[in-house]
Amino acid sequence: MNQKRILIWYRRDLRLHDHEPMYQALKQEAQVIPVYCFDEEQFATTSFGFPKTGAFRAQFLLEAVADLRNSLSQLGSNLIVRRGLTEKIIPSLAKELEISAVYFHGEVTSEELAVEETLQTALSQINVPVNRFWGNTLYHRDALPFGIKQIPELFTNFRKSVEKKSSVPSSFPRPHKLPQLPDIDPGELPRLSDLGLEAPKFDTRSVLQFKGGETAGIARLDNYIWSGNCLKDYKKTRNGMLGADYSSKFSPWLARGCLSPRFIYEQVKSYESQRVKNDSTYWLVFELLWRDFFRFICAKHGNRIFRQSGLQGIKIPWKEDWARFRLWQEGLTGFPLVDANMRELAATGFMSNRGRQNVASFLTKNLGINWQMGAEWFESLLIDYDVCSNWGNWNYTAGVGNDARGFRYFNIPKQSRDYDPKGEYIRHWLPELTSIKGTQIHEPGKLSAQEQKHFGVRLGVDYPRPVVNFFQSVKANEKIYNAAVELAQKQ
Ligand SMILES: Cc1cc2nc3c(=O)[nH]c(=O)nc-3n(C[C@H](O)[C@H](O)[C@H](O)COP(=O)(O)OP(=O)(O)OC[C@H]3O[C@@H](n4cnc5c(N)ncnc54)[C@H](O)[C@@H]3O)c2cc1C
Repeated sequence: MNQKRILIWYRRDLRLHDHEPMYQALKQEAQVIPVYCFDEEQFATTSFGFPKTGAFRAQFLLEAVADLRNSLSQLGSNLIVRRGLTEKIIPSLAKELEISAVYFHGEVTSEELAVEETLQTALSQINVPVNRFWGNTLYHRDALPFGIKQIPELFTNFRKSVEKKSSVPSSFPRPHKLPQLPDIDPGELPRLSDLGLEAPKFDTRSVLQFKGGETAGIARLDNYIWSGNCLKDYKKTRNGMLGADYSSKFSPWLARGCLSPRFIYEQVKSYESQRVKNDSTYWLVFELLWRDFFRFICAKHGNRIFRQSGLQGIKIPWKEDWARFRLWQEGLTGFPLVDANMRELAATGFMSNRGRQNVASFLTKNLGINWQMGAEWFESLLIDYDVCSNWGNWNYTAGVGNDARGFRYFNIPKQSRDYDPKGEYIRHWLPELTSIKGTQIHEPGKLSAQEQKHFGVRLGVDYPRPVVNFFQSVKANEKIYNAAVELAQKQ
């Protein structure tokens, strides 16, 4: 066999556009062998016992893999699909197909790196080299103004330096034609039930009917940026919680790599030259930089992002109060903004950024509960779960991340009045409170017996009384936090 055969291992890069491993393999006129493995490890349970990949994300993933297979087939190739342990499947395919090299996008977090290392060792035993590419961020790791170990700890410092000294590289072109696969069984896609999951029911209250895959991701981008013309107002609307278009909703596609951030960047630039360039167009890129930041921070700090003491190493005596944690999970805390968001997450697998910040603050700054439990619950449910963004943001909101501002909490009743002034979002998710007119909906715990009668809402019966006194609980947790910081500084 004279022609090189390069196996392309697809991971969180389920797309044809902007795919360097595929581009480089085709440049060498190699016969490309695209492979996706449904890795058993991804369907295990988290340390607190939640399904690692819940049904919302699993369904999105299945759709994304099916879409990739379809796109590859249209170009003359196919996607080989297998189930099991990646580090066993790929070497066995490499042997069977006499593969010359394996190309893939490298990851930065421990579980993913462990798979890469074991795979590389197994492949080296059969003399198959690997080529690891950096993708899935706006800026390329090798074009940053600093080495990974020197990445600034604070986002603003990172952003300013990168914006000044680096530039976003162009995306790689999409292939137009692909070589046929050799004679091999391409394999069936598993069903959700094969992965031990039940198909989630679509809730009509969802912000969007998310469908996995590059095709649907590009359609969403066209819809949001071009036909809906929403980008021009993004900065004003992005803190919303209700509806499809207050924010881009690109995150599920970005997280599975169905959309590349560089491709989005190019679309923003093209929108700026064809329609309008303003604060909003800049702000979408600014948010994508947050995503880059967390990925580079994970690359810098390795496993520290997962530790209870976080990136700063602050040993806070967190509680593991399961009774209260369940109230938080189920949206039964008696704080409507928290409850509405938690019920949205459980029913749809999505929650706005505003919502995520508030519920994470409530869990850690009011309930004083171990933030890792919250992070794992998000990991299980979020359709857009991204290991770096999730754990990075949880570090940040729990006050153990690279945020120098100490104990910060969200004033939930105030946030509720500011971001949901008419209580529309709360009414959308908490039907038991719809009869409460006006601003009292933000704090039903304060309703007098007479008001409860008037609105027909019985506290403790129709809707829970607040599980904690808001400001007293903040104060108590601030004390615990400050004592832990003091101790960390002494050590
Ligand atoms: C506790 C917590 C956990 C989170 N977990 C995740 C997660 O698992 N996956 C995830 O993609 N995002 C996570 N985020 C970030 C953010 O909430 C989501 O990216 C955003 O809500 C997705 O909606 P969107 O695509 O409409 O965002 P937009 O507002 O339209 O932003 C565009 C894109 O910018 C990126 N982005 C925006 N805000 C952030 C941020 N704070 N951190 C990192 N990237 C950001 C996302 O890729 C997003 O798709 C988390 C935030 C918090 C506070």
